[in-house]
Amino acid sequence: MEVENQRKTYQKPTIVKLQGQLFNKHGSSGNFPLREKIDGASVTDLIQKYGSPLFIFSEAAIRRTFKQTQEAFTSRYPSVQFAWSYKTNYLKAICAIYHQEGAIAEVVSHFEYQKARSLGIAGKDIIFNGPYKHLDALRQAASEKAMIHIDNFDEISDLEKVADELGKTIDVALRLNMDTGIQPHWSRFGFNLDSGVALAAVKRIHKNGKLNIVGLHSHIGTFMLDPNAYQIQTQKMSRFLMQIEANFDYHIEYIDVGGGFPSKNRLKGVYQPPEVVIPDIDDFAQAIVDGLLENLAPERRPKLLIESGRLLIDEAGYLVTSVVGQKSMPDGCRSYVVDAGVNLLFTHTWYDLLVESGIPLKGLPEPAILNGPLCMNIDVIRDSIMLPRLQKGTPLVVSPVGAYNVTQWMQFIQYRPTVLLIGENGVADIIREKEDLSDIERREKLPDHLAL
Ligand SMILES: *Cc1c(COP(=O)(O)O)cnc(C)c1O
Repeated sequence: MEVENQRKTYQKPTIVKLQGQLFNKHGSSGNFPLREKIDGASVTDLIQKYGSPLFIFSEAAIRRTFKQTQEAFTSRYPSVQFAWSYKTNYLKAICAIYHQEGAIAEVVSHFEYQKARSLGIAGKDIIFNGPYKHLDALRQAASEKAMIHIDNFDEISDLEKVADELGKTIDVALRLNMDTGIQPHWSRFGFNLDSGVALAAVKRIHKNGKLNIVGLHSHIGTFMLDPNAYQIQTQKMSRFLMQIEANFDYHIEYIDVGGGFPSKNRLKGVYQPPEVVIPDIDDFAQAIVDGLLENLAPERRPKLLIESGRLLIDEAGYLVTSVVGQKSMPDGCRSYVVDAGVNLLFTHTWYDLLVESGIPLKGLPEPAILNGPLCMNIDVIRDSIMLPRLQKGTPLVVSPVGAYNVTQWMQFIQYRPTVLLIGENGVADIIREKEDLSDIERREKLPDHLAL
């Protein structure tokens, strides 16, 4: 990930005297940020009914963001198709909302492919990406006419074998990587365009005549902050499209620019607020369309595919957690133990997540650290956060956490919690029940000689 490789800049520690009546950079002294409700549903009521911790998703926010994002593209280009990135959040209910909104599925493994199929998505509405697709997965995807995006030369050979088995040519797309002027340059996925490897792949496919190239794909990074990188990407992709069509008997039906658009989350080490640092989706859409139109003939308007994840869901997700204990640390800092840990919050690594209170809080903010319940020193949700004195039981709302946490979460030391969806009518539905021992032990076997 791009953010993963950003080096933290050293910040000189400072000691600030707290002044009760004044505003400071942490907000006004007596008012900690408050979020009593999520889409009209009371946080304390939800905890009472469903327990703590809780992941909570807003259906209204999901639909609103999807429509806005889609509009940014459809207002600029005649033929646009969105695909929901399953790995970002593949709970059935979440995927179903995007499919209702008109998105197809974007999957990166056989498991995700099966998940989309079991939800009722037809093969032809599944984009199959990823660097490893088992031969069985390729067989299923090819016979169900999925959009298979080839990653490497071995996969070309595998697919040619499948084409022989099926006795027909298979429509495919090529995954491309290229220098778009940003670091890190994601060169491990697909065929490199700049060096000519991508063209060699086209020739290789053409020579055997078993596969039919109908699409070009490229996903250049994640949490991308520079719209210009996408303009370079689509310039290069559209030039390659014209080159292929001029030299081979292929008709490219679509260009897929992947995803990577940032959410309005606060990157660690970036002092300016996300609203200032993060470009609008309109800027990305404009760059993509500008780059696309630069090299295409006026009558050539291939379908534009967008595979988005993070931007669409991050701000629709909250983690509600409760204070279960507190202590004063030797350095004077207060430590709070809350009932949700970093095993549930993979993205805490990159972001200073927003922490709000589910009930009004009074009192002077003081330096504090939010620790999770794991017996691990690294279980820190926020270090150096200013908090008024919290009582045991205080509910806290952590956000935005909608992207990548509910797929990358770990069952480790604790069970994973209930996930709720607040519908557009303000009513909560459970979309994943909290785990119990039977979930964890279902696949375990105890050999007879070890029975106690
Ligand atoms: C993960 C992924 C996406 C979605 O990326 P975001 O940064 O979450 O938008 C899209 N396409 C491919 C191929 C991916 O691997």
